Amino acid sequence: MAAEQTALIPVEEALEIVLAHAKTLPYEEVPLEDAVGRVLGEDVAADADMPPFDRSAMDGYAVRAADVAGAPVLLPVLGQIRAGQFPDEPLPAGTAVQIMTGAPVPAGADAVQQVEKTRRSANGRSVEVLEAVSAGQNVARRGSEVRAGESVIEAGETVDPAALAVLAAVGRARVAVGRRPRLAVVVTGDELVEVGERPAAGRIRNSNGPAVLAQARLAGADVRSLGVVPDVEDRIAAAVAEGLKGDVLVLSGGVSEGVFDLVEGVLAGFGVEALFTKVAIKPGAPLVFGRRGETLVFGLPGNPVSAQVTFDLFVRAALLRMQGARTVSRPTVDVELAGPLTNRSGRRAHLPARLEFESGRFLARPLRSAGSADLVAHARANALVVLEAERTAAAAGERVPALLLGNFLDR
Ligand code: AMP
Ligand code: MG
Repeated sequence: MAAEQTALIPVEEALEIVLAHAKTLPYEEVPLEDAVGRVLGEDVAADADMPPFDRSAMDGYAVRAADVAGAPVLLPVLGQIRAGQFPDEPLPAGTAVQIMTGAPVPAGADAVQQVEKTRRSANGRSVEVLEAVSAGQNVARRGSEVRAGESVIEAGETVDPAALAVLAAVGRARVAVGRRPRLAVVVTGDELVEVGERPAAGRIRNSNGPAVLAQARLAGADVRSLGVVPDVEDRIAAAVAEGLKGDVLVLSGGVSEGVFDLVEGVLAGFGVEALFTKVAIKPGAPLVFGRRGETLVFGLPGNPVSAQVTFDLFVRAALLRMQGARTVSRPTVDVELAGPLTNRSGRRAHLPARLEFESGRFLARPLRSAGSADLVAHARANALVVLEAERTAAAAGERVPALLLGNFLDR
């Protein structure tokens, strides 16, 4: 890749470059039950009014409110309407009909009194309505939730279980979703051994591979591991050749200034166009982003926290954009610091913290971390406190922005 592009660029600029190159992939149609977690590729409208008829919200008696204004009132019971039935006769004045939750309220009736506020006669022929009801009470009017043709969910939203319920309700047995980007991971490093092995002296286990594959999977990618390769050009090249066949190639390690940091050179050899090679971010300054044809290439720093954080900020955003997602970055919220933090890196720092809602505000407790390699501290975090380059220190009690991590809502 081009050697002259070595300037540190700001995080926002780097993200803009990544997103400018992350083109939305074609949509595909999937059965509704497979749509969870996918990005919806079409605007969906209600095929009918919701509810589709005036619906009883209670088990009880459908009445005319005017007939029970002087409750208690005794009314003859004309019969029963169950959910799933449709009453073809209007309710005559001065009568009641027993009705179940979800059943259509007959024409003529304008309210439902709940069963607890009634007393049925011993022979079942009449009911004493013990309390008055107002017109409309306990009746969900046809179309009161959504009108036919109105939009219920839009393209670019991620289908969660609640969205799935909406799609089901409007009859979408199949829906268009963004195609999963095909992503390959190549892990580099002479020191790395497989997870199942006991590292010999000087060696460590490959933890980036599993982490990055999992991050990619959670971001919707169709993932493939191309294994661990040593810091040997030919070996990296063989893996890169394979990885470039997909939509996204992610490499871990070998992108800094060491003698055995060979990734950039190998990528250049394949004609990968370098779009940036360093970002003003901590952890993670060496971060390579390039493109060859339609394939995006990310060279993540090897330090475990750097790899995970830069994946989250840049690779995840690209994957979501490729699937057509409207929101591609995690939310940043304003929080109060529970303890002091410093940032002497001259770059935007992302510092691990534990965020809890306490006494009416979000409080961020900084986690003790030994730095970009401290994957245990990172795993304890549910947010990253963001200190801009110029903010070299922040004291307890100060307001700071915090980026919510993916585990924030789930733990
Ligand atoms: P590098 O970016 O290759 O210079 O690596 C930076 C640091 O991250 C070194 O201490 C490496 O040992 C470590 N590292 C690189 N790759 C991995 C990996 N896959 N798993 C865990 N640590 C790694
Ligand atoms: Mg290395």
